Amino acid sequence: MHKFDVIVIGGGHAGCEAATSSARVGAKTLLITGSTKTIGAMSCNPAMGGIGKGHLIREIDALDGVMPKISDLSGIQFRVLNKRKGPAVQGPRAQIDRDLYLVHMQKEILNYKNLTVKEGLVEDLLFNKDRVNGVKCRGGAKIKAKSIVLTTGTFLNGIIFCGKNTTPGGRIGEPPVTGISKRLRNVGLSLDRLKTGTPARLINNSINFKNLEIQKGDKNPELFSYMNSKVLNKQLNCHITRTTKETHQIIKNNLKSSAMFSGLISGIGPRYCPSIEDKVERFSEKESHQIFLEPEGLNSNLIYPNGISTSLPKNIQDSFLKTIPGLENVRVEKYGYAIEYDYVDPRELSHTLEVEKIPGLWLAGQINGTTGYEEAAAQGLVAGLNAARKSIDEDPHVFDRADGYIGVLIDDLVTKGVTEPYRMFTSRSEYRLSLRSDNADQRLTDIGVKLGLVGSKRKRFWIEKKKKMSLIRDTLKELKITPNKARNEGLKINLDGKTRTAYDLLGYHEIDFYNLEKIWPKIKSTDAAIKKTITAETTYGRYLTRQEREIENLRKEESKTLSTEINYNAIKGLSNEHKQKLTKIKPRTLGQAQRIDGITPSAIGLILSHIRNN
Ligand code: FAD
Repeated sequence: MHKFDVIVIGGGHAGCEAATSSARVGAKTLLITGSTKTIGAMSCNPAMGGIGKGHLIREIDALDGVMPKISDLSGIQFRVLNKRKGPAVQGPRAQIDRDLYLVHMQKEILNYKNLTVKEGLVEDLLFNKDRVNGVKCRGGAKIKAKSIVLTTGTFLNGIIFCGKNTTPGGRIGEPPVTGISKRLRNVGLSLDRLKTGTPARLINNSINFKNLEIQKGDKNPELFSYMNSKVLNKQLNCHITRTTKETHQIIKNNLKSSAMFSGLISGIGPRYCPSIEDKVERFSEKESHQIFLEPEGLNSNLIYPNGISTSLPKNIQDSFLKTIPGLENVRVEKYGYAIEYDYVDPRELSHTLEVEKIPGLWLAGQINGTTGYEEAAAQGLVAGLNAARKSIDEDPHVFDRADGYIGVLIDDLVTKGVTEPYRMFTSRSEYRLSLRSDNADQRLTDIGVKLGLVGSKRKRFWIEKKKKMSLIRDTLKELKITPNKARNEGLKINLDGKTRTAYDLLGYHEIDFYNLEKIWPKIKSTDAAIKKTITAETTYGRYLTRQEREIENLRKEESKTLSTEINYNAIKGLSNEHKQKLTKIKPRTLGQAQRIDGITPSAIGLILSHIRNN
């Protein structure tokens, strides 16, 4: 008898989302984590969201996940990034009070229906033949479950580097985990090393902010959850400073003592979040790099200097920091460090995030080669959902590339694998005009309702919002105006004699709801979020129609399934490179086969004729 349907290992961002999505769909779930006090810990920057990452948070919200709600409860500065650009690439971001996030997340997790939490370290996985069926904890306790979700972050064989000092650790002050990697390797999974780093934490009252540029939050803040509109905490400013020539000189002179440049670390780091040593070395033509000084919380005396993660020795960190305007007398609370850890090649996983070679085991988060809280949480939600569905004998659910960035993230991981820590950008999606942060609920909430992921409160909220949206769309399509009248109202419209609807007018670059409200005051009361979505829809109008056709094609290709039993080595005409890649990835659909790097249309033709002939 299994005591639990699902066990989730690790209470980080992937683990919290996995445990709660599993519990929401009705599986009896156990979360085992090192310490309940670190549930929801933000290992690095005190911020959530941004471009691509903010899109992921909105999608998690559309599926009733926990990260967006907890971020809203803990937000101390909300800003939409890329506001000057089109709606598709605008991403909500917030500075988060690190302590509040912990408090709210722990309260949520410890009181979640269907979810039990246990403190402990899992040292090994238990098997029944080739299927996982439980875990063994430090101290010897064994717990059985039908499905296991592993979300151990940077803890697998983690090593921390600061200058020439190396310490085993999963995060500063926390021990690494060694048994699990060994077990995964023994079962034949491919593991490798990656690295990431974090900057020093600075003491607020040792910084001179007087001459630094101030960065404020938005005047009308947008929260992460579609269900929230009210900011709850006092809002704080960030400040901006820059490295100087002197900073760069000190770093250049001491590159050899940086763990990353001394050859101590073999893992590859995040290209889009490089250390300051990397920046100085790779962009040697640049005289200066921007640093955001971000408050760590309302009652915290710490500042997080975003942009200068480092593994230089402590004394060198002290000296280069002092060459930065505002930091001349800075005192450091904790020094920056780098961490190298094991990750599993995500091509070992199916689109449900279940390990192909180990039925009953799902992986989510940094263990799959990603970086970032939001990427981890999005995977956690999918892994928890599918682990739960399997344990209660339901079919798995796969989110595709047109459903959202969640689908893009997982398809990229399992199809292409990673060569460096993977983070989300809007440029990763071919359907980004449709996958906006304003419309994740339109794309996903109905799916979430069908899967049982969405609670009754959100369901009611969503039904109401849908009604309001279709009502205002209808109204805008009924309101009409001639070009002459429009001109008289100050709108720049061609005098071509064509009567236009208010909906048509919104599609013009220089016309927004504000202009239309002056002509038709009855539309003034429309919710701000609905205005944003309808404006985006009309702005992208015909491009969206074209994209819908492309999405239809994608779904046709995705519906052509390929058996995992196909022997690609037996297909005549395929190159050795094609055979190797197809054998390794075992694409589940024709669409996925087409997206594998280097697979040509003629290779697809050969696969199709092989299937027909067999
Ligand atoms: P984590 O949040 O690390 O959670 C793992 C959880 O698993 C922890 O609670 C741990 O206690 C628990 N656990 C581990 N092993 C076991 C076990 N055997 N039994 C029970 N519990 C276990 N991201 C960025 O986007 N940008 C950055 O600049 C950046 N820098 C980083 C710097 C450092 C030093 C670190 C450590 C991380 C950094 N990250 C950064 C990554 C970010 O913190 C992670 O991507 C994110 O937290 C991953 O979430 P996760 O749930 O996979 O793992």
